[in-house]
Amino acid sequence: VYAYAMEPVAVMGLGRSGLAAARALMAGGARVMAWDDAPERRAAAEAETIPVVDLTTADLTGVRAMVWSPGIPHTFPVPHPVAERARAAGTALVCDIELLLGAQPAAFVVGVTGTNGKSTTTSLIGHILAHAGHAPQVGGNLGTSALALEPAGPFGTYVLELSSYQLDLTPSLVCDVAVLLNVSPDHLERHGGLEGYIAAKRRVFQESLPPRKVCIGLDDTIGRNMHTELVRQDSRDLIPFAATREVPRGVSAKDGVLVDDIDGKAQRVLNLSDLTALTGEHNAQNVAAAYAACRARGVAAHQIAEAIRTFPGLAHRHETVATVDGVLFVNDSKATNAEAAEKAILCHDDIYWIAGGKPKEGGIDRIEPHLDRIVHAYLIGEAADAFATFLDRNEVPYSICGTLEKAVPLAFQHAVEDEEEAPVVLLSPACASFDQFTDFEARGDAFKALVAELAAETEGDD
Ligand code: ADP
Repeated sequence: VYAYAMEPVAVMGLGRSGLAAARALMAGGARVMAWDDAPERRAAAEAETIPVVDLTTADLTGVRAMVWSPGIPHTFPVPHPVAERARAAGTALVCDIELLLGAQPAAFVVGVTGTNGKSTTTSLIGHILAHAGHAPQVGGNLGTSALALEPAGPFGTYVLELSSYQLDLTPSLVCDVAVLLNVSPDHLERHGGLEGYIAAKRRVFQESLPPRKVCIGLDDTIGRNMHTELVRQDSRDLIPFAATREVPRGVSAKDGVLVDDIDGKAQRVLNLSDLTALTGEHNAQNVAAAYAACRARGVAAHQIAEAIRTFPGLAHRHETVATVDGVLFVNDSKATNAEAAEKAILCHDDIYWIAGGKPKEGGIDRIEPHLDRIVHAYLIGEAADAFATFLDRNEVPYSICGTLEKAVPLAFQHAVEDEEEAPVVLLSPACASFDQFTDFEARGDAFKALVAELAAETEGDD
């Protein structure tokens, strides 16, 4: 990042992306002032000679940019004092994506946002483009943070997962292909309500002027309204897609078949039932989105279809862990809200459901119509009591387990005795993980370790 050579740049938040930003800025000759509210993170930065400066008191005059870690609330629910100081000094709050795009202006950028399915779709697009020989750099909100990616170079491609928090901090974002998957209420507390959240999501394409392309999901009302608005606005190159409806002049993944009607010549390109790593209607939506984005990048239909068939899937997203004594274990730890958990529940009929954690504002009422699929629930974490009240009201049997260590063996014990065809122990928490784990990966790994223990014990019994 040479744009800031010799200039002072502040870095607020020294997690993975903040550290990578500080390193890249220092390598580009900037005068870095790094800070984190947590002393151990400051110490870790100092240990690798990143200059730590107290941003709660430092003079910010002349500091052009403050690289803000998207995970730290800056405006809502309460303004962060360091963000307030930056604003008062006229220092722009940006995230690492803004710096990356400034440093690599000639690269081709595919940006993916939406409430759910971002990581799956981003990785799938990366997988397809790699198959088609584009050697893309894939990261952002997923995997490798923006400034730890290899430079894509002038003809290279970035495929970036963009969270609403990052979009809020990327004022000059220009995507060559922008993908908006879906929008449902989530993270509302950080955006000052639904309007703020929608505004952040909309940013993924508001800067994309023709001939840049917009792939937009029509499965939800908010997406459909945005699409109508875009059609009215200008001649932007739009590729609408959906999994629940046919899409004239777009891509649909309805009833198990992927249909490409982008050029007005509807052709069936893929049978979705062939895909073992991408099951369920939600993944049909992800497949349609990835297909649309790669067509927008100029990849041929048959090449995309070939690549989708070999996608291995992502850990912690409806990941098949093992079958033990006829019981299937599925790790969907990434389902941190009710919408995502609902999608997983819709994939099975005979569910022993492990749920709970740090509750989300939206609650879990949307799961109510599907509760007949749940034989028994095992509740963990802070949300246990609230979920118990919800299940009581709906007469679904449950056990308050508190921890995964208690929930997994108990769910297995019940599921083994199940007479039905396909009992599934499903971890799909509908909650964030932070009450008991560092992140959803740690929660999913703990689940997988417990399943491995059960498998080992069961083998021992034989
Ligand atoms: P994100 O990066 O947006 O959180 P992921 O691809 O990591 O999305 O998936 C998160 C969770 O949401 C997973 O539990 C998965 O089962 C579910 N999910 C995946 N795709 C979708 C979708 N298109 N709509 C709703 N839920 C989805």
